[in-house]
Amino acid sequence: MTEEIFPYAGQVVRLRRKRIKNMYLRVQKPDGHIEISAPLAMKRAQIEAFLRQNTAWVQRKQQALRERAARQALAREYLTGQTLLVWGKPCKLVVRTAKGREASVYRQGERILLTVPAYATAEQRCEIINGWYRRQLEQVIPKLMPRCEAIVGKKAAECRIRNMKTRWGTCNVVKARVWLNLQLAKYNPEALEYVMLHELTHLWVPNHGPAFKARMDKYCPGWRRIRKELNEQAAFSG
Ligand SMILES: [Zn+2]
Repeated sequence: MTEEIFPYAGQVVRLRRKRIKNMYLRVQKPDGHIEISAPLAMKRAQIEAFLRQNTAWVQRKQQALRERAARQALAREYLTGQTLLVWGKPCKLVVRTAKGREASVYRQGERILLTVPAYATAEQRCEIINGWYRRQLEQVIPKLMPRCEAIVGKKAAECRIRNMKTRWGTCNVVKARVWLNLQLAKYNPEALEYVMLHELTHLWVPNHGPAFKARMDKYCPGWRRIRKELNEQAAFSG
């Protein structure tokens, strides 16, 4: 494989030549640069013609990436107008300034009212919101866990909520300790139930092999769809 870089219409194109028959075009995350894989002997003129044919597609992809980056930047600010998900429902965040040092969050229909001291930073606003998400989970878990335990036929010795970056839950099978991701309060409640059932099933089967999947099919028939929807919605990257 060889790699070269050439300018095209004010952009940088990364061209990879491989032993392949067709050309492939990609717009790469996060910056939206163009990547082309082309057969070894393909002429530059053909490659540029291919690019021209796909200009509209490239522009759409790049625009979508810019919008995504803007949304993610805003999502880290916790300011009025931002959309927060609560149990799968989009809610508008309204931030108010408190006179004193107190902070509070409450939900009013489709709005989340966050009151914070004027000097609160984005990180502090995030922490307060995360504390509120944690309380949403704390209200639901004591009811949901016994139901899931009855379905699976195993009990968790302990269940904790943690803000995790890359996983929905974990299960320490030796200690029968289940950890659930705080972020689950953002998505459809069925996702929380699925993750609980998944972690409890590890108390039967520690890995994700066929025996595990057979049990999941029994305990949570829709688990593949629920997992897919959860991972599509999730903003782990944000
Ligand atoms: Zn697992």
